[in-house]
Amino acid sequence: MAYTEQRITSIQRWSEKNFSFTTTRPEKFQFDNGEFVTLGLRQEGKLIARAYSIVSTNEDDHLEFFSIHVPDGPLTSRLVNIREGEGVWINSKPTGSLTLKYLQPGRNLYLLATGTGLAPFISLIRDPEVYRQYEKVILVHTVRTKVELAYKEQIRSLTGEHLVYVPTVTRETFENSARVSDLFCSGELFSNIGLPVADPQYDRVMLCGNPHMLDEMTAYLESGGWTMTNYKGVGNFTIEKAFVLAKEG
Ligand SMILES: Cc1cc2nc3c(=O)[nH]c(=O)nc-3n(C[C@H](O)[C@H](O)[C@H](O)COP(=O)(O)OP(=O)(O)OC[C@H]3O[C@@H](n4cnc5c(N)ncnc54)[C@H](O)[C@@H]3O)c2cc1C
Repeated sequence: MAYTEQRITSIQRWSEKNFSFTTTRPEKFQFDNGEFVTLGLRQEGKLIARAYSIVSTNEDDHLEFFSIHVPDGPLTSRLVNIREGEGVWINSKPTGSLTLKYLQPGRNLYLLATGTGLAPFISLIRDPEVYRQYEKVILVHTVRTKVELAYKEQIRSLTGEHLVYVPTVTRETFENSARVSDLFCSGELFSNIGLPVADPQYDRVMLCGNPHMLDEMTAYLESGGWTMTNYKGVGNFTIEKAFVLAKEG
């Protein structure tokens, strides 16, 4: 069977807009850090399931997820009310393109996220392998309001010689109010953190966020000589949508 029922083991509410939860881990469930899986709730026998990046690492005995709350969303309007001990259905086949194997080896690794696009990168920055493969890992997370900066204390506790964390908030006063794409494309990011401007020959980029940010960054990188990982081969940047926009009309 593709889905198994797992138990919620803890819930962390960051704000009205987002929350995290941990679950028991299905037997024999293996994944590469950075991958996503579909999970859902059963409503009158019908499964409502959505893609979710896995926040925990493959070493952990539980699974962890970071969720948006869409007030009228078919899944998250219900998931937001879930309690410890209740069940959630998790698919057995994780997948995704934000894993270390989908990038050529390199010098510095840039992880650029908006909103819940942070989720796969939490898994990656918790993995010691990422620091063996890259000299520096730079995580930039853009949100609209300060309360949406989930995981900031945990990320800060991992920063140091190898991990640089740049949170930015666009709709409130904050130490940095630039959008992740503006920071990267203007070069301001590199002067702020004292690193050379990202170079497709040496550096690597992973993107996860809203479709607009992905389009903007993809156009910028490709015009600068970067190659995206796709079915043709492994490149020096790789992307994944943090969500799909609803069809208009
Ligand atoms: C590969 C992939 C990985 C994903 N990983 C995550 C994840 O780790 N955490 C997560 O919360 N969601 C994630 N999503 C989105 C998720 O699949 C659902 O869309 C989300 O849980 C909302 O479900 P829903 O049924 O309540 O609303 P839906 O009907 O799915 O969405 C309604 C609308 O809400 C908006 N929306 C949906 N999800 C988000 C979001 N995450 N951030 C901002 N706006 C959103 C969009 O405009 C969307 O059209 C991922 C999606 C994809 C394709």
